[in-house]
Amino acid sequence: MPESARLTVSLSQPFCSPDPALQPRLVLTDLDGSLLDHHSYDFSPAVPWLARLKQMGVPVIPVTSKTRAELFPLREALGLTGTPFIAENGAVVGLPPGWCHARLDRPGSGRDGVVIKHPGVDIGFIRARLKVWRERQGIRFSRMGELSVLEVMELTGLDEARAKNARQREGSEPLIWHDTDAALDTFRSALEGDGLQLTQGGRFWHVMGRSADKGSAVEWLIKRFTALRGRTPLSLGLGDGPNDITMLNTVDQAVVIRGCHDLIVEPSNTSLYRTQATGPTGWAEGVAHWWGRDDRRVEAAEACDVVAV
Ligand SMILES: [Mg+2]
Repeated sequence: MPESARLTVSLSQPFCSPDPALQPRLVLTDLDGSLLDHHSYDFSPAVPWLARLKQMGVPVIPVTSKTRAELFPLREALGLTGTPFIAENGAVVGLPPGWCHARLDRPGSGRDGVVIKHPGVDIGFIRARLKVWRERQGIRFSRMGELSVLEVMELTGLDEARAKNARQREGSEPLIWHDTDAALDTFRSALEGDGLQLTQGGRFWHVMGRSADKGSAVEWLIKRFTALRGRTPLSLGLGDGPNDITMLNTVDQAVVIRGCHDLIVEPSNTSLYRTQATGPTGWAEGVAHWWGRDDRRVEAAEACDVVAV
């Protein structure tokens, strides 16, 4: 039977569950400015695609700079409590029970059984080294953990509840620098000797493990998926900022969502699509670009009339 005929036969069949003969897929996505509107946190333009992906059995995995405490209410709102997540730019990985490995993971202690991994270094180590270098070099900075909730609210514009959640760090520590550029260079070198890195964010400098970026965490999750399922997934990544570049270079198919900022986002991934629209509308545009036309499971999901609108 010719390939086209086989495809026609396949598409004519009702199809409401993932086909094991097809390559499994993963979506890895930034939140702010990507799946969530930069200003309003609205994600309604992405809801039809989220519903389709869920129906197809494709995990949608948030990959964000937010802390776990900030992320948990958003996971609930997005309906993503059954999928893993990456928080603090890659310093924290959360695995729901279905993604855990009996030999490699201790049972999760949380209410929902999520196992937390710290691919970089523990926050206790980071804080201990910051204390050492501050005393030894006589440098001046304020760690987020040393700021009051009110100070964090003033610096970030977050409300009180979100500011409290933003202070609950596990694998990276933001700080405000109060010293000279020369002192900053010396400080950076000292941190590198500890296996730590210093990266600049919008408001804070962030101290985290050397390999604790979004790309490394995504690579780790893809390997975990492959180990559990015995098959390498086709991965699609979406993001709008410079801190998404390592993730976008790790996935098979990448989407740069048009940003609400002037920052340059230039991944080296050759399978790259840039959206016209911003935020969650751009997110849906990016998913549709890669998977909206040629995916049999999408057609099948539509045939089953399960698409949420
Ligand atoms: Mg973003």
